Amino acid sequence: MPVRLAIISDIHANLEALERVLEDTELMQAERLVCLGDIVGYGADPAACVATVRERADICVLGNHDAAVFSVPERAFFNPNAREALSWTTAQLSEDDITYLQSLPYRVSTDNLLFVHSAPRAPEQWDYVFSGMEARLYGRYFHERICFIGHSHVPGLYPIDAGVREYSHADRFLINVGSVGQPRDGDWRSSYGLLDTVAGTYENRRVEYDVDAAARKILARGLPARLAQRLKFGQ
Ligand code: ZN
Repeated sequence: MPVRLAIISDIHANLEALERVLEDTELMQAERLVCLGDIVGYGADPAACVATVRERADICVLGNHDAAVFSVPERAFFNPNAREALSWTTAQLSEDDITYLQSLPYRVSTDNLLFVHSAPRAPEQWDYVFSGMEARLYGRYFHERICFIGHSHVPGLYPIDAGVREYSHADRFLINVGSVGQPRDGDWRSSYGLLDTVAGTYENRRVEYDVDAAARKILARGLPARLAQRLKFGQ
């Protein structure tokens, strides 16, 4: 059982953000790295982000943007910007990159922790969890102590028992670690989770990165301008 575990999600091909987050996980002495998917989509560096996650993550699960690269039904709910980014993204990836994305599981359960991209019930349906009430209802669909999710790009700590107010090592939680590459909670800084199973703590870390460089690259690649602008506002 690792002592310090870093959990990242929703990188969305933002290499500037990913590199800074990985530096922070080293600074925080994380011993293992888990990725909750959406390595690609929206951003300027899909191949480099796939290579980095592949090399660095001990566990990685499949996100809907990763699945959209090789599976058509996933694209049905994409808005026009996401669609445009997807066709560009797919052209940047090698056969080997795509084979790697295809190999990713929907869920991984280990050491009383569950890792999924979207939600613990039927993760392949890509449901969103936005409220504490929804999170409590999902509590019956997993048996592990903590279920870690991403997908909404909004970090959140949700106790499964209504009476619990803050993180403790004794209680059950559904935890959204937020997004490395495209935060949407009004804070532009990268978000990730740090779990310490010995100290009994969980921390949502926020990390500054060169957001202007990431935005410039999106424009330089000819991707939709909105995908560059939103990074600066965290929305
Ligand atoms: Zn995402």
